[in-house]
Amino acid sequence: MRFSDKVYVITGAGSGIGEAAAKKVASEGGTVVVADMDDSAGARVVSEIEAAGGTASFVHIDVSAEGDADRLVRHAVDTYGRLDGAINNAGVGQPVKKIHEMTTADWDRVHSVDLRGVFFGLRAQIAHFLTVGGGVIVNTASGAGLKAAPGQGGYVAAKHGVVGLTKQAAIEYVTDGIRVTAVAPGLVATPQFRSYPQDAQEMYAQLQPGGRPAEPEEIANVMAFLLSDDASFMSGEIVLVDAAQSQK
Ligand code: ADP
Repeated sequence: MRFSDKVYVITGAGSGIGEAAAKKVASEGGTVVVADMDDSAGARVVSEIEAAGGTASFVHIDVSAEGDADRLVRHAVDTYGRLDGAINNAGVGQPVKKIHEMTTADWDRVHSVDLRGVFFGLRAQIAHFLTVGGGVIVNTASGAGLKAAPGQGGYVAAKHGVVGLTKQAAIEYVTDGIRVTAVAPGLVATPQFRSYPQDAQEMYAQLQPGGRPAEPEEIANVMAFLLSDDASFMSGEIVLVDAAQSQK
């Protein structure tokens, strides 16, 4: 029960990695604010956490919208009296296109959610943590935040930005009791991945050294470790969770 009596906000918690992280944190005693732009997905995750004996509430948020991250922090503090940590996880992919094929809209969408959204989250959370003597933040980067990926120029650039912001925040606030890390997942079997045709799923799975993508829980377990006091001497690390994919 590493998160007993503590409160966490998790963005993109209506699906996939964020949902698995919310359930993991709640299963270890943490109170979770499920933040997502998908109201029905968020409500479902809250009710599943509550059915399992946990405590959670839902806040509608668009991480790319100015002010929403501040409102999320206020919700946690007003409702539960405290905020101990955050997982900035909400994200979107981009259509497979080479750089010369990408529209300005393709670029802006992935950057406004995946990078500006993390900046807004960090800014709001850090401002609060500075007033209470510390806190923990875990960002969702990607293997594509550490090297190129075919047809993913906008996403690669945004996730490299998340990696940079994570390192920057870590060094700027290490003496303020604020730890900031990121996980960098490889291929994950998210609901979106599971919606691909079976042959496409198999083709992607075969590209993995271990022959399969990660289950969202296998990423969430690492996030929970980073969020917990077990990782008390970690800040600024970008933790790859990819079963050797990056060694190919
Ligand atoms: P993954 O598991 O890789 O994070 P998913 O697509 O399963 O991928 O989950 C991403 C979650 O982030 C979804 O629940 C989605 O609704 C949410 N999301 C996407 N864009 C935003 C946004 N701008 N603000 C808040 N939540 C968002």
